[in-house]
Amino acid sequence: MEPRLSLAAGFVAAAERFPERPAIDVGGELSYGELLHRAKCLAATIQREHSAANGPALSAVFAYRSQTAFAGILGALLAGHGYVPLNRTFPVERTRLMLERSQCQVVIIDAASEPQLEAVLAGINARLALILPERADVSELRSRFPNHRIFGASDLCDVESLQGATPDAIAYLLFTSGSTGQPKGVMVSHHNVRHYVDYVSRRYGFSSQDRLSQTFDMTFDLSAHDMFVGWQNGACVCCPTAKQLIKPGAFINDARLSVWFSVPSTAVFMRRFGVLKPGMYPGLRLSLFCGEALPVEVVQQWLQAAPNSIIENIYGPTELTIACTAYRWDREKSPAEVEQGVVPIGEPFDGMRALIVDDELRVVPEGGDGELVMTGPQLTLGYWQDEAKTRKAFVRLPGETETFYRTGDRVRKGECGGPLLYLGRLDSQVKILGHRVELGEIEAAARDASQIDGAVALGWPMNAGGADGIELFLQADERETATLLDQLRKRLPTYMVPRRVHFLPHFPLNSNGKYDRGALLKILREEA
Ligand code: AMP
Repeated sequence: MEPRLSLAAGFVAAAERFPERPAIDVGGELSYGELLHRAKCLAATIQREHSAANGPALSAVFAYRSQTAFAGILGALLAGHGYVPLNRTFPVERTRLMLERSQCQVVIIDAASEPQLEAVLAGINARLALILPERADVSELRSRFPNHRIFGASDLCDVESLQGATPDAIAYLLFTSGSTGQPKGVMVSHHNVRHYVDYVSRRYGFSSQDRLSQTFDMTFDLSAHDMFVGWQNGACVCCPTAKQLIKPGAFINDARLSVWFSVPSTAVFMRRFGVLKPGMYPGLRLSLFCGEALPVEVVQQWLQAAPNSIIENIYGPTELTIACTAYRWDREKSPAEVEQGVVPIGEPFDGMRALIVDDELRVVPEGGDGELVMTGPQLTLGYWQDEAKTRKAFVRLPGETETFYRTGDRVRKGECGGPLLYLGRLDSQVKILGHRVELGEIEAAARDASQIDGAVALGWPMNAGGADGIELFLQADERETATLLDQLRKRLPTYMVPRRVHFLPHFPLNSNGKYDRGALLKILREEA
């Protein structure tokens, strides 16, 4: 074990250099020294309560936009564990599934997530260690959950020696939407994230004076950028509370941000609410967008609102660790490089290799479009306990010795060695306000809940980055939908729950005899 290699090493080094500087601001600042102290206490408790013989070195963090969320993540890493983020804005059934599937023995919980504990733990047989660092008295919880071991603030201990991690150990396990109906866990290693953080730190030159936004939930991998890039550079990670999140414009100025990072949908939302006016955000020096296609109008308005900021569109799936290509907007050159109103995704990060291939995984001739496949130090370890899915997505190409990840994204290279252009998806994955959604997962849930075999989910209405929401078609006669939607709400995060259900006694079929999604989309278009 080598502490230097752990993803937490950047934070620990910054805490030694700048113990008094703020590490996080989430409804109030917390210094590096204090956050390190809290994380160490959690790490020690994890080490004391986890038994290597009983399961993998993973700990869950059930906390949302709170100091405990950050301390919990660092605590897991300092204990030599990977963290598994859980999200109280998700349905409890999904949270329970993630907890069970990851086989975590320890869960760190913040006060605001506590009310969901009873429902999350219902049906869990394993004897878990539940750590509630914000609770002074846990006696009532101990009597409510006699099958589990419960620890409050006074049960935490300090630790002298921190655990390291082998570079290939899991730093975090993130569950993303899965096309066959179950979320799939992406295993991201310390080595993967360290490569990302080192590269991005060089690219953007962060300093301890920077204040970075943390707009993403921990269950979205882009949150790892904010934390680990920020901490490696001694900067402050500024996380809007749930209340502040709905007013991102005010947050930028109130938190004195110098670096902004969000999905483009947030900027679209800000534009709609009139908070992207010229000169509103003079303090921003860098603005990054990722997670879905970036419409050119967003960039143009953002440039006016943040006149001192560089703007970059960065691209990447969770399986390639946060992001792996980048494109810097240039006022002179870029307008000519925009394709279908969408900003290019640029060039691979140093050390990453990108190829464009056809269905047979053969490289397409220059200038042709095809699927983007990538490899390099950010290629993650595959899917948690799912070799079949891993083999399907992490592939060998003819004539290549390395493993490549099939992104499912259709791209083309711009003319004369120009940037990579994003052209859309090759499968039925869509982005709903930046969230990755496999339509197949919604369809599986709808088939289950309705007992109707014919189910097609579509992203609608479509926008430049993906879609605003989901519409569901069921092959059946009209019936009531309230019960069905209730069942779906119990299983799917809000952004995956269909806004409307349409019934058709017979679905249109395409020439292969499959449900004709295009014809169903046409119905929605005609209705609009
Ligand atoms: P996720 O794993 O949730 O980060 O989603 C990854 C997917 O989001 C990619 O495979 C793309 O389809 C999409 N995506 C991410 N960044 C961009 C971008 N800058 N432009 C277009 N699509 C993007």
